Amino acid sequence: MAITRPKGTNDIMPEEMKRWHYMENIMRTIGQTYGYSEIRTPMFEHTELFQRGVGETSDIVEKEMYTFQDKGNRSITLRPEGTASVVRAFVENRDYAEAQPTKYYYQGPMFRYSRPQAGRYRQFNQFGVEAFGSKDPAIDAEVIAMCMEFFEKLGLQRMELHINSVGCKVCRPVHKQALKDYLAPSYEELCDTCKNRYEANPLRIFDCKSETCQEIVKDAPTITSCLCEECTDHLNELKILLDASGIEYILNENLVRGLDYYTKTAFEVMVSDIGAQSSIGGGGRYDSLVEEVGGPDMSGIGFAVGLERTLLSMKAQEVSVLDKEPINVFIAVISDQEKVPAYQLMQQLRKNGIAAEMDVLGRSLKAQFKYANKRGFSHVVTIGNEEVQNMRYPLKNMKKKEESKVSIEEMILTLKEEA
Ligand code: AMP
Repeated sequence: MAITRPKGTNDIMPEEMKRWHYMENIMRTIGQTYGYSEIRTPMFEHTELFQRGVGETSDIVEKEMYTFQDKGNRSITLRPEGTASVVRAFVENRDYAEAQPTKYYYQGPMFRYSRPQAGRYRQFNQFGVEAFGSKDPAIDAEVIAMCMEFFEKLGLQRMELHINSVGCKVCRPVHKQALKDYLAPSYEELCDTCKNRYEANPLRIFDCKSETCQEIVKDAPTITSCLCEECTDHLNELKILLDASGIEYILNENLVRGLDYYTKTAFEVMVSDIGAQSSIGGGGRYDSLVEEVGGPDMSGIGFAVGLERTLLSMKAQEVSVLDKEPINVFIAVISDQEKVPAYQLMQQLRKNGIAAEMDVLGRSLKAQFKYANKRGFSHVVTIGNEEVQNMRYPLKNMKKKEESKVSIEEMILTLKEEA
């Protein structure tokens, strides 16, 4: 029986790659214009990093991690998200000792063991950014702007940006107590997960999908209503900056996000065109994570965008990827005798940056033309004995159906001009 891919994973086939490259180019451009440098961290880490970083009470750590013992008996986890690893790398490589802020972006696969469905996979890709060393709301605004610009540059529409503040060390305990007091009479009605959350992290009850829990927390005190002065000012300044840069948002007091490390700003971007899994990206500020991972007291903020979901949204909204027809040459040979000069010509074109191929399956001339047509080569050069002797070659533009006899130098010039 044929072996299939594991549940919840995807093959990205060459045809689809065009869209991925398109997204990746936009990522790099945005990273560069905002002063973020690319970072690549390992795909697996010590399990403890995520337990400490992402938080024991998060769904990810509780239920979704790919954790195993390696042959050296270490507990290893395939990274379920990028932030904890990037923070670890920032600390381990002592980038905190450099001039601040430090701004990175990353892209790569993440792994979560959850029930696969459309838009939810066990291996999926994220594009993310992290900025360290500044508490200024201007950096929160910048990170949100980058996230929105990514979707806009891709041509997506109808995104909804939700923002909130989830408070800090000062106001969170006040809210936690207010929330527990409010929930106490309904404790028995909460789902089992939320019963556990009640003590450990009642804020997460806002995140529960159960209708009963949703109904119970509907009128509960929100963190936003308990913010300390510093967090209130921070949120207000962020709103002013977003307004000033024309970024529309919804202040969503129930937005708490699934990861435990957020402080102050939390945000999420949704699109309605892709069904239940409508979140295409999200992020927030994490002012104690660097210290928790063993670094100095330094703040950070970032976001992660799900690339498969972004692509699903692009498809749902019928966004086309601008793509110039590539210039590529097929060199057809009349007989085996022209194989060597054809090979030389192919290599000369390639060395000049022009995509070129020739037959490698011993096809007849007719079959070679058929293949070139099927594969959609932009140009075909046919080489026979006469062409080799005269060193002039018929270069056919397949789209325009025009042919001209040219030297190799002229051929290179013409093709470069058309590219
Ligand atoms: P998170 O790291 O949970 O904040 O997720 C950030 C983004 O990653 C989400 O908005 C999704 O677009 C994407 N994402 C999260 N989990 C999955 C998954 N299991 N499959 C596909 N995309 C995901």
